[in-house]
Amino acid sequence: MYNIQGYFEAATVEEATAYLAANPDLIIIAGGTDVLIKMHHGQIEKARLLSIRGIKSLQGIRRLEDGTIVIGALTTFTRVGDDPVIKANIPVLAEAALAMGGPQIRNVATIGGNICNGATSADSASTLFALNARLQLQSRQGERVVPIQEFYLGPGRVDLKPGELLTEILISPGDYQSYGGHYIKFSMRKAMDIATLGVAVLCRVQGGVLADVRIGLGVAGPTPLRCNEAEDYARGRAITPETIAEIGKLAVRSTKARTSWRASREYREHLVEELTGRALRVAVARAGGIKIA
Ligand SMILES: Cc1cc2nc3c(=O)[nH]c(=O)nc-3n(C[C@H](O)[C@H](O)[C@H](O)COP(=O)(O)OP(=O)(O)OC[C@H]3O[C@@H](n4cnc5c(N)ncnc54)[C@H](O)[C@@H]3O)c2cc1C
Repeated sequence: MYNIQGYFEAATVEEATAYLAANPDLIIIAGGTDVLIKMHHGQIEKARLLSIRGIKSLQGIRRLEDGTIVIGALTTFTRVGDDPVIKANIPVLAEAALAMGGPQIRNVATIGGNICNGATSADSASTLFALNARLQLQSRQGERVVPIQEFYLGPGRVDLKPGELLTEILISPGDYQSYGGHYIKFSMRKAMDIATLGVAVLCRVQGGVLADVRIGLGVAGPTPLRCNEAEDYARGRAITPETIAEIGKLAVRSTKARTSWRASREYREHLVEELTGRALRVAVARAGGIKIA
């Protein structure tokens, strides 16, 4: 059932990258809520695992002097949802974190594992896309920082080079300050279900005008995605029901939804149009703008 051929534990990032450099076949395990399911289902066989769970420096969240928010890759969803820095500065990310799984899963599942698993349905992904999050990756060769939009390569595929570890998620002050946001997870059940669609909208308002809108979608294509056409249209427009309806329509143009047992492509497109508008209405109100019926 769990054919584990070897198990190693790293206490520091240096130890982890040394293990990975010496043993390229090692599979990283953080919370294990994806890895162990894959082993159980036979998608991973004869695994040699490297546990990074004990690396203290990758747990927790801090705000740097310049306002950048740094989230350690091993931070659990419970912590993201309850963290004072996140709640005070990026409440939409706390909202997304608490939409994920149930309390038991949120207590062990990490935000880094959610990203590195490469699923389009990852509940953190659409919000992190809308936040222009950047990912810090570390290997024995050194460090690099990649925008999250470039990290997702395809279903279950991410730009993680051999020997590399995701260490931190970075969010710049310009990407969250003065923004209101809202995340809607649409799923068949209210709890413990994978999203049929995830929509994160962030916006900044000035007077009655949309100064900026950023829309991140999950399960609207093989990877999470942004809705550039809708965002370009939105910038500088008066906040009216007509503008919001048009933004919802244009958001559909960026999608590559497919039919699965959960929902048809047409139904997902309908959800994108409708839920983008709903999320934007809430985001506008949270950004201090007018309430649109
Ligand atoms: C019952 C149940 C319900 C779930 N519900 C949801 C849900 O509602 N929404 C949702 O989005 N997900 C859900 N999941 C999926 C899963 O819990 C999440 O994707 C979780 O965030 C994975 O984190 P983890 O720490 O457990 O990752 P792991 O299983 O440890 O690892 C996942 C992948 O990432 C790699 N990895 C992990 N950390 C790193 C790192 N720092 N650097 C490089 N590679 C790394 C691993 O090698 C592996 O490929 C659910 C899972 C279960 C079992």
